[in-house]
Amino acid sequence: MIAYFNGRFLPKEEIRIPVDDRGFLFSDSLYEVIRHYPGGLFRPDAHIRRLNHGAGHLSLSCTDFSYLIPVVQDLVHQNHMEKQDALAYIHVTRGCAPRNHPFPVPAPDPTIYVCVSLFDPAARARQRNTGIHAITVPDIRWSRCDMKTTGLTANVLANQQAAEKECHEAIFVRDGVLMEGTHSNFMAVFDDTVTTAPLSNYILGGITRDTVLGLCRNLGIRTEESPIYQTRIHLASELMVTGTTLEVTPIIVLDGRPVGNGMPGPTTRALQAAFTECISF
Ligand code: PLP
Repeated sequence: MIAYFNGRFLPKEEIRIPVDDRGFLFSDSLYEVIRHYPGGLFRPDAHIRRLNHGAGHLSLSCTDFSYLIPVVQDLVHQNHMEKQDALAYIHVTRGCAPRNHPFPVPAPDPTIYVCVSLFDPAARARQRNTGIHAITVPDIRWSRCDMKTTGLTANVLANQQAAEKECHEAIFVRDGVLMEGTHSNFMAVFDDTVTTAPLSNYILGGITRDTVLGLCRNLGIRTEESPIYQTRIHLASELMVTGTTLEVTPIIVLDGRPVGNGMPGPTTRALQAAFTECISF
């Protein structure tokens, strides 16, 4: 597999990260995962905007990574994946410097790693058709979840808790409000209105979330970006998660209780159909 590392294309197994890299030492780094459908990348510009947003807030020495879109396209081409389902992974760290908390002076060049891998859509399609089981967990993450940093320990622990209960996703609850999943945004349908947490520093502004809200507008489905309180969650007729790998996936059981009639509901189905149209290149 050919990957990209600091300006060079080379076999992935030849890439070495120095131990002084701040991504390794401090998780002082950002990442993006972009879906490639047969025929093209899904909204790469939006992913790069989000990466640039994080890079600006972290004061990295580079804050415009738009040049990575052709790099990703090149990797898809070099690895013969143009007609395949694949994922592109971008990882940007502050760079290398002897371990010390403050930003190194002078600022090092960021470390840039980009790779692509094949993605098996069949297992995900099953989940999208039948729906998944999820649990709620306390949101023990920090308060800059709007940046897609690689500091994912809380997400890993929460998703592991879900896996141990044979569930696919864990939904973080902060102060009694369901915020988002470990790798997805969360939506609930109350009285035919698709409700999701408003953008803030407590959630990641998902590209799929944004796409789905746009699809709701096109379909004439009412939307509300407001807190989803745990005390009201039993009133939701449908629940779903959205994300680059999950697309629009219904939650049919939350914390062991069926959602609605325990089957994916009509709003979720309509959004899935509309989403499928916008990924047909
Ligand atoms: N929220 C979190 C915490 C995530 O990690 C992700 C994706 O990985 C999302 C939401 C969904 O974002 P996107 O739709 O851009 O994949």
